[in-house]
Amino acid sequence: MSETLYDVLIIGGGPAGLTAGLYTSRARLKTLLVERMILGGQVMTTTKVENYPGFPGGIDGPDLMVRFQEHCQEFGLETMTGEVTGLVDKGAEKVVTVDGREIRTRAVIITTGAEPSKLDIPGETEFVGRGVSYCATCDGAFFRNVPVAIIGGGDTAAEEALFLCRFASKVYLVHRRDELRATKVLQDRIFANDKIEPVWNSTVDQVVGDNTGVTSLVLHNRQDDSQQTLEVDGMFVAVGVTPKAHFLADILDLTPEGYILADSDCQTSMPGVFAAGDVRKKILKQIATAVGDGAIAAIVAEKYLDDFE
Ligand code: NAP
Repeated sequence: MSETLYDVLIIGGGPAGLTAGLYTSRARLKTLLVERMILGGQVMTTTKVENYPGFPGGIDGPDLMVRFQEHCQEFGLETMTGEVTGLVDKGAEKVVTVDGREIRTRAVIITTGAEPSKLDIPGETEFVGRGVSYCATCDGAFFRNVPVAIIGGGDTAAEEALFLCRFASKVYLVHRRDELRATKVLQDRIFANDKIEPVWNSTVDQVVGDNTGVTSLVLHNRQDDSQQTLEVDGMFVAVGVTPKAHFLADILDLTPEGYILADSDCQTSMPGVFAAGDVRKKILKQIATAVGDGAIAAIVAEKYLDDFE
């Protein structure tokens, strides 16, 4: 058990976590932010962020997140790399297990975000890293002058399809309905791009490949129940996200989909434990709303600590 007692421990270093850390550090609360991988979260895999206010013309995701980090450093936010596996409520104190080590804190803000959902179809797991990817920004450049497919019809699928056009010879946008969910401005760009061919009303039944990697996808047409083979070298999956809150399943109230239930003050079912950003059940998942959540969670946590004294 650590000697140090933190005021606030933040789990997750994306936009919500960094914003919460900025606010609590600036409020002179002794804060530790624990991040499993690299600071910045999902935005680190976004090429251009066009809808975060203050950056006309857009800003690259990693550049934006470096600014968030630098801003936190100005106020002395302490960060560490580690994976949180446990959270125990001891009333005025909470004990958080990080890589097997127990850390004491008076309040916790959970900002673990979400990760790309899987299709759960035959061949998907087998070909991860050999043609199946969940991040076009990370892996798109490996698919130069070959056809690829992107699965999904939301903002992520649309943005990734446009990004993949830089490399691939052809980008099939495979969507289970006949209209996209993506925002209108992205749809306009998709339909104006000759390299992108939508494949409507279709889902993927199976990923097929050999020792060189993916060679084709077996598609299922949901209107006439037919099957079709789509020859591609890569499949990028962009069918939404799954919240990263499995380790809290027996500790906090979650929705059936695994999102943390918290009120508009970001207060969860455990007093002194707050949830902010994409891991919290809410209507809109954007950087702007994650930032708003992070600020609310920090201010409400500060008030909770004041009331406790
Ligand atoms: P999303 O909006 O939930 O879209 C997921 C897409 O995948 C939907 O089109 C859905 O089809 C399809 N889908 C879901 N499960 C499927 C399955 N098993 N098989 C085939 N297709 C499936 O997810 P997202 O695009 O990752 O976006 C997540 C959140 O981040 C959204 O709130 C989005 O607005 C936000 N985001 C914003 C930006 C931006 O503002 N620039 C960029 C990226 C993401 P249906 O349409 O039929 O449901």
